[in-house]
Amino acid sequence: MNWYKIDRINEELYRISEENHWEKTNIYYFIGENRNLLIDTGTGLFPLRKVLEAIDLKPIDVVLTHAHWDHLGNVHEFENVYVHPEDMEWTRLGLPLPDNKIIEMMTKDVDESNLIDFELPPLKHENPKSIHDFEFDNLRFIHTPGHSPGSLCIYDEKNKRLFSGDTIYEGTVYCHYESTDPVKLKASIDRLSDLDIEKVYPGHYHQLDDRAVDLLKRILDEYKREDKLHHGGGKKCIDKVCVQL
Ligand SMILES: [Zn+2]
Ligand SMILES: [Zn+2]
Repeated sequence: MNWYKIDRINEELYRISEENHWEKTNIYYFIGENRNLLIDTGTGLFPLRKVLEAIDLKPIDVVLTHAHWDHLGNVHEFENVYVHPEDMEWTRLGLPLPDNKIIEMMTKDVDESNLIDFELPPLKHENPKSIHDFEFDNLRFIHTPGHSPGSLCIYDEKNKRLFSGDTIYEGTVYCHYESTDPVKLKASIDRLSDLDIEKVYPGHYHQLDDRAVDLLKRILDEYKREDKLHHGGGKKCIDKVCVQL
């Protein structure tokens, strides 16, 4: 059963998507000279490591864009896991959500025949390390709090690519629950809009371009103008990009 859809974006970069999941989660795999880099580990519905090893066998370092269940699902399969210090606690201890709630979200709309041996994975890692102690080629790991306290975007300046996790994607960017921060999200998007970006590789759904950054900036500017840049500010959309405060 091929749960993961693998696309080779170019020589050194693969996208591994959970196309049949309602959230259409994306994982990115960089092939380096001596080591490989994995951005996020998916929902954890199906093992991931062997899929990566079939592509390339070099040792793998993992960077989590943030510590939500749909991005760290298979994190227990890896030794070296880096995360922003502000999402460290959830990476180490797991999200403060009941198992049945996570199982419900994880398995929603998934074909039952695929779930025969399903058990909830640990959704945490014993020994995550700080992103401040990590380097990979010329990638920049930018702290973009808002959707979570320790959200990261990964910027590849040479190729004008941004790996945006849940900070930018087509659909609704959630910034309405307690651990989110609308004011910080706006500041993060403002900083990203100063970067020279051609392609955005999001944590969910399909690839975007710099227009997505502009749309999010416009939406958040509008909340600010209307004095609604706070929890309970409601939902706003321009085209297919939405924010829920
Ligand atoms: Zn998230
Ligand atoms: Zn997500």
